[in-house]
Amino acid sequence: MIARLLFGLSLATLLHLSAFAQRPEFAPGAKYDGAIPSLKQITGFDFGQRVTPPEDIIRYLKALNGAAPDRTRLIKYAETWEGRELYALIVANADRIRQLDEIKTGLRRLSNPASLSQSDADRLVRELPVVVALVHGVHGNEISSGEAAMGEAYHLLAAQNDATVDLIRREAIVIIDPMQNPDGRARFVFQNLLGQAATPDSEPAAAEHDEPWPGGRSNHYLFDLNRDWFAQTQPESLGRVKFLLEWAPHVVVDLHEMGGDSTYYFPPTAEPPNPHMTKTQGAWLEAFGQANAARFDERGFVYFNREVFDAFYPGYGVSWPMAQGAIGMTFEMASARGLSYRRRDDTTLTYLDGAIRHFTSAITTAATAARNREKMLRDYLEFRRNAGAGTTKAYLLPVGRDAGQTLRLVRTLINNGVTVARAEEPIKLDSRTLPAGTFIVPLPQPAGMLVRNLLDPQAPMNAEFLKRQENRRLKRLPDQIYDTTAWNLPMLYDVECVGVDRTLAVKSSPVDLAPAPLENSSLPEAIVGYALPWNATGAAAAIEALRSGMRARFLNQPFTIAGRKFAKGTAIFRVPDNDADLRSKLAVIAAKHGAEVIKLDSAFVSEGTSLGSNQVVVLKSPRVLLAWDAPASSLSAGWARYVIERRYGQSVTVVRAGSLGRVDLYRYDALVLPSGNYTFSADSLRKIRDWVNAGGTLITVGEASRWAARESVGLLDTRTELRGGAPEPEPAGPSGTVKSDKPEPADKTADFIRAIQPTREQPELVPGAILRVQLDEDHWLASGTDGEIQSLVESTRVFTPIKLDKGRNVGIYAVKDRLLASGLMWDAALEQLPQKAFLIHQPMGQGHIIAFAEDPNYRAYAEATQFLFINAVLLGAAY
Ligand SMILES: [Zn+2]
Repeated sequence: MIARLLFGLSLATLLHLSAFAQRPEFAPGAKYDGAIPSLKQITGFDFGQRVTPPEDIIRYLKALNGAAPDRTRLIKYAETWEGRELYALIVANADRIRQLDEIKTGLRRLSNPASLSQSDADRLVRELPVVVALVHGVHGNEISSGEAAMGEAYHLLAAQNDATVDLIRREAIVIIDPMQNPDGRARFVFQNLLGQAATPDSEPAAAEHDEPWPGGRSNHYLFDLNRDWFAQTQPESLGRVKFLLEWAPHVVVDLHEMGGDSTYYFPPTAEPPNPHMTKTQGAWLEAFGQANAARFDERGFVYFNREVFDAFYPGYGVSWPMAQGAIGMTFEMASARGLSYRRRDDTTLTYLDGAIRHFTSAITTAATAARNREKMLRDYLEFRRNAGAGTTKAYLLPVGRDAGQTLRLVRTLINNGVTVARAEEPIKLDSRTLPAGTFIVPLPQPAGMLVRNLLDPQAPMNAEFLKRQENRRLKRLPDQIYDTTAWNLPMLYDVECVGVDRTLAVKSSPVDLAPAPLENSSLPEAIVGYALPWNATGAAAAIEALRSGMRARFLNQPFTIAGRKFAKGTAIFRVPDNDADLRSKLAVIAAKHGAEVIKLDSAFVSEGTSLGSNQVVVLKSPRVLLAWDAPASSLSAGWARYVIERRYGQSVTVVRAGSLGRVDLYRYDALVLPSGNYTFSADSLRKIRDWVNAGGTLITVGEASRWAARESVGLLDTRTELRGGAPEPEPAGPSGTVKSDKPEPADKTADFIRAIQPTREQPELVPGAILRVQLDEDHWLASGTDGEIQSLVESTRVFTPIKLDKGRNVGIYAVKDRLLASGLMWDAALEQLPQKAFLIHQPMGQGHIIAFAEDPNYRAYAEATQFLFINAVLLGAAY
């Protein structure tokens, strides 16, 4: 049999087979049912022989589903931007698959216990399986988990006489999502193949391991999908969360990879924990950690816990499920970033090594859940009954200046499984009355832990951890905070959110966000035209109107017509400027975006600026360029592209930074430079400057603003500061070191602490906090705002405000005692940042330079600053 098999094989396969005897295995000694196809039978490659491309992973899952339709269900849950399909394979015993729809209903009932009697709850806990979701490869270049996913599915279906597998089949349903980010995996595989040597090269710097910009980690819009779980700006996250809410899993494992010289990581997690995690959840993490440790010890696999990977931020694959009452876990495996990788200790790590370890932890976790089925279900039920309990009994979201933004926030909450109601009558509070139509988010509720995470103004970190960070900071050691420290959505959306401490007795109804059919939209006939008040919703509508050929003007001054007061920022569509179908076309666009449009029958203003004033400018559909590729940050470039082209529907031409020199800039109105340290030639720089002088709008973000402020670049007429406030000197050359002007005087009497302070150092890092920004409402860049917003700040950048003769500081950080809205900020930053520039406008010739100190498009959920960014993109060409 073996001889016959070998006969027809190629030399390359034989070479692989010769090493086969020592090949490590997923499950040593396992016997498999020949009726279930192996990976090799379907794709021609055995596990670990090549980095399986996304289409073959799906092909294999389909083959497994075809071979065992009685024990699997394959569900497509989303499609990526690049058109790849996302699937999850449900594996269970034949009885369960037969009754899967009833089981799903039971799982939903268990996850919504309010309407559940105790006897029904007890019956569900007795009868339902524990649901274990194994989700893999959210980062496309973390490759071994995709291979493990196929191995897990094969093993659970094909293993025979295996007590562990029998236990899982008896007590659990396993959901296998083999790759959450196939676009990223496809990008990795393409780059890896392109760089591949004749035999896999283990040199860490070899081309096959060394991914060019932007790498395979992110999705099409270069988002880190492992930060997108609650914001769900990307279709992968939106579909996955919807799918998981339907199946209400009790365990969710997110399988990743880390640097090739690491070992393996599983819980207990690192500090700080999410502040709302329950004690019971913590105990389960401990139990799963111990079970995995025992299995890894048996197999001789090295691991670590309690370091690096915290679960503080609720938008991870580990913490979002936790906030729904599941036990969420991150597993991290050292990555071979290809087939084979030479580690610092001169051992070789293979792709298969990674897949085997992930397989081992995944199966051990499923078995541990199965062994504890009933207790897990009971704890989950208990969680869902009490989640979000605390002094706050509800959050209220009154419809504000921009109704569309309030609705956007409500929709995001509902997409997260949060229950939201709408008041049918006014709500009387102690100090004020909120109108009927106010949205109510009651607490506690089953998704209450997520509500507390997203709507509480502050997510506290434990004091001991903070003290440790403060000590590290004083020694200039990096802090141990893995991600941002603030994410409050109402602040980032600039939507009012009121917490109330008593249970409300208000008549309310469920929220229906189903949009009305657009063809029924209408506007009344107008003599003069239509006014569109300016805000994020209005801007999106205006962009679509301009792109469809309508003509609009813009006024950033208040005026009153026929008793209606208009604030600063109104787009005006005049009847004589436009075609006869203005009314019907504008009606559809306004309805689609939920934008308010007011008809104008007279242009006579009773107060304020006339509609025929010279202050009225022409809005045009801007032609926008965006720099792409190194040295731009891929996140910043991706966020900007997404916000311009998907969030706001504005077309944009994306050009690699290295090719900007051959673009005829005069064909464009705006150029966006995402965060990055650019190295344009003197000639390219001159071209950019000439173009701005001739009327172009240059928009710089984060590090690009720092670059623009350098003396040698000479674009922005202000400076970034060092810690303490001195201007940051020019970088001294390729090494990036700074040369000192004069030697520090030797002060023999200085105490030790003072003596060791660096002489020139970057300002204190703000580790992802939400800060208040005051806006200059008179300036067109702040059109449509109410003079204050909150911005996510995550950097060491401090910009000295620009002088009045050079430009305007349209946004500055608030004064010290008002500065921090949410999150963590150290004293040195709290001293230095107040009243420093956040948004600078510098006129240059006929054009503008607009500089953002921070990334306004942060994760595409910083709605308030994204609106300022869109103002810059859209209005620069009008002024
Ligand atoms: Zn990862």
